[in-house]
Amino acid sequence: MKLSAIPTSVRTTCPYCGVGCGVRAQVGQDGALAIAGDDDHPASRGRLCVKGSALGETVGLEGRLLAPMLRTEGGLHEVSWEEALDRVAGGFQKIIAEHGPDAVALYVSGQLLTEDYYVANKLMKGYIGSANIDTNSRLCMSSAVAGHKRAFGEDIVPGCYEDFELADLVVLVGSNAAWCHPTLYQRIARAREARPQMKIVVIDPRRTATCDLADLHLPLKPGSDVWLFNGLLAYLATQGALDAGFVDAHTAGLGDALDAAGQAGSLLDVAKACRLDPGQLLAFYELFANTEKTVTAFTMGVNQSSSGADKVNAIINCHLATGRIGRPGMGPFSLTGQPNAMGGREVGGLANMLAAHMELDDASQRAALQAFWDAPRMADKPGLKAIDLFRAIEEGKVKAVWIMATNPLVSLPDADQARRALAKCELVVASDIVAGTDTNAMAHVLLPALGWGEKDGTVTNSERCISRQRAFLSAPGQAKADWEIVCEVARRMGFQGFDFTSPHQIFDEHARLSGWQNGAGSQRRRLFDINGLAGMTRREYDALAPVQWPVRRPGEQSKRLFGDGMFSHPDGKARLHATRARLPAHAPDADYPLVLNTGRVRDQWHTMTRTGRSARLAEHVAEPFVDLHPQDALLCGVKEGELARVSSRWGASVARVRHGGGIARGSVFMPIHWSGQTASDARVGAVVNPAVDPVSGEPEFKHTPVRVEPFGVRWYGFILSRAALPLEDAANWTRIQGTDFIRYELAGRHPFAEAAGWARRLLRVEDDDADWIELEDRSGGVYRAAHLVDGRIEACLFVSQRQDLPARAWLAQMFGKAALTQQDRIGLLSGRAREQGADPGPTVCSCFGVGRNTIRIAIEKHGLQDAAQVTACVKAGGNCGSCVPEIRALLAEVHAAEKESV
Ligand code: SF4
Repeated sequence: MKLSAIPTSVRTTCPYCGVGCGVRAQVGQDGALAIAGDDDHPASRGRLCVKGSALGETVGLEGRLLAPMLRTEGGLHEVSWEEALDRVAGGFQKIIAEHGPDAVALYVSGQLLTEDYYVANKLMKGYIGSANIDTNSRLCMSSAVAGHKRAFGEDIVPGCYEDFELADLVVLVGSNAAWCHPTLYQRIARAREARPQMKIVVIDPRRTATCDLADLHLPLKPGSDVWLFNGLLAYLATQGALDAGFVDAHTAGLGDALDAAGQAGSLLDVAKACRLDPGQLLAFYELFANTEKTVTAFTMGVNQSSSGADKVNAIINCHLATGRIGRPGMGPFSLTGQPNAMGGREVGGLANMLAAHMELDDASQRAALQAFWDAPRMADKPGLKAIDLFRAIEEGKVKAVWIMATNPLVSLPDADQARRALAKCELVVASDIVAGTDTNAMAHVLLPALGWGEKDGTVTNSERCISRQRAFLSAPGQAKADWEIVCEVARRMGFQGFDFTSPHQIFDEHARLSGWQNGAGSQRRRLFDINGLAGMTRREYDALAPVQWPVRRPGEQSKRLFGDGMFSHPDGKARLHATRARLPAHAPDADYPLVLNTGRVRDQWHTMTRTGRSARLAEHVAEPFVDLHPQDALLCGVKEGELARVSSRWGASVARVRHGGGIARGSVFMPIHWSGQTASDARVGAVVNPAVDPVSGEPEFKHTPVRVEPFGVRWYGFILSRAALPLEDAANWTRIQGTDFIRYELAGRHPFAEAAGWARRLLRVEDDDADWIELEDRSGGVYRAAHLVDGRIEACLFVSQRQDLPARAWLAQMFGKAALTQQDRIGLLSGRAREQGADPGPTVCSCFGVGRNTIRIAIEKHGLQDAAQVTACVKAGGNCGSCVPEIRALLAEVHAAEKESV
């Protein structure tokens, strides 16, 4: 489908991870979208990772929600905006009148723009009068928020990306930055190339791609981070490495923090608790003690824990105690997961915050906000955090929920509970860009929202940099901006204060609020202050260049904070928090002996509603998988390449068994991306336990006791088809987008006694005279068939009772041909080219589509020694660089095999 474009080249911001890379987007006369990195954006300086580079492949209108829909007994049907908005406003008003404001809720998203978030929060906390607005940022960042507030008195990331380049030691904790924050990882890699003396330590239970850069990898026991950093604080004290002057002048709480840290015991005790080699642990402690310019970056491996807030504070304690904060090349650094998780925090998008970094439990700040908004009914107590919210919905306490830009039935822990909750809810409203999601299937009202490239506003990245996301595509169908939908509903509910006609007006109010009574009289001084951006004209807002807050006066910006030793607590001092090491909420036992860790893969984003459209992005990891140690696989009776059922006390999921992800004994890893739309049974959220951190409410996604067992099937197979197919017959399936086809990976339990008829029915080939090629080996349990139309392949099906199916890459290439040659037809049922070497193998470099076989052959043939030589030879690794760790692993593999064969 051709895109409808606003015909200009536009500078905007990537909608995926919290690095917040700058993007240049241009729609050509032919409707094709050209994407490039923005050289002038300070976060990325022209770089994009493969996800960002593929943005042009993800903006098509297939599957979009293009009109408001209402669900009635007859099913979903299109209605006018008037009817849909009246239904939402009327439904909320009725429930509030009957049950009070706490009987309704909003569940929003770090995908929203700041302007969308601002009006949603204003509606809920200032007008409806409840703080029942929470966000999917609860699932990724709330532990960092809680840790920042306890330590600094405000949710502040003190440093900036440049600090990673200036540091002499970068410690990455619970972060697979190579895959999850790729352009920042590449900045670190380039800095290290320029200064080889720079050291990198990775602290992670898994040996991830990020370890490719590491001088030291500490594969700590899952959940033991507080032991490790308490041990470090105690070590720093005994070595005289604390900065007594800074501690005395600018902090409080060191004594209690040291008492708590001392309980970690000796270095040997800590090593035992963390299941680490004592020598390696000591090496890290020495490195940290002796390196002033140290950045400690942390993300989901730290935050997503039942002791996430304490983990954050244990890290920050070490920086406060050494005075390593607020100066170039040093500081704790929370890497944000989502593109606008920080923007959401600025406007108070979490249930326990107010807008502009004001506090719900501070009566004077509530009053200040009420006066600014002229709000009729201010929330005066915290609302329900995500997990509690969905419990309250199931219990019938919350009777209406409006879900915006997120898919909680896939992303929440104990996701089957979320399904039960929505099934009972009186009114479920969903604003979304796509029609078919697991959550939208439960909604009574669906509201079509604008997507990336269509919407207009601001986002804030991990280093406090506010950037514009600009529209360069026309609004499709009847879709509207989220801020506009919220304002329409608010006005229908009779509320003043929502007469905005543009995101510019909303941003202006947001900027003015940040300066409102900020530090005046008895009011606490808040560092989040962008008053210098208030009063911009529409043109100035449209042209706004990336800027790091605070921006108190026009033209000001702030790379680093706390350099003056002044923090946001009333006495200006930071707090070291006494962090106590705690075991994860649920321990493995005889029934569930393994620990499930969950996370992202390199080329996908969240529930794949956008990245899942790109064939290029599907090539790196095509299917849901469970990665476990080969010895654990043996004990569980599962084999690499076969399907396994992974179950916990909360639910189950099915995935392909894999090894090689650097998993220690006792742990398994599964990616989070697959939904009910892309796989029959791979919602990992259904397996994850709902334990949360008591302070932050962030769920423990990284530690769920599970059992892994064979998922018994009679056969495995796959289909490549130009048309979408129903797959009722399959016991398990995954749907993968290809360039000119859809690929289905299948497994079945039924015997196929009459394979040809079954295959024809499955591929919908009704014509007896169709060009149909097949091969059947009944005793070997093998069936293969291909359907051609006018010499072009239409579909093919490969089934086997053994693990001997051919690679998919060569067959996939056949779908790009207008007509198959005789040689192609001969190769078709073997699934590979007749000539040797034509199968590129599974994709390693998604940017240039270079496969594993191609790289391996090049290394062997040309005697390549390093990744740069591989790039020069076959281009792989030459763009975003995300695949360089895999290229290095392949080089090591080939070189090791060559040594063995000598
Ligand atoms: S690193 Fe990749 S996903 Fe993250 S903002 Fe940049 S281009 Fe987007």
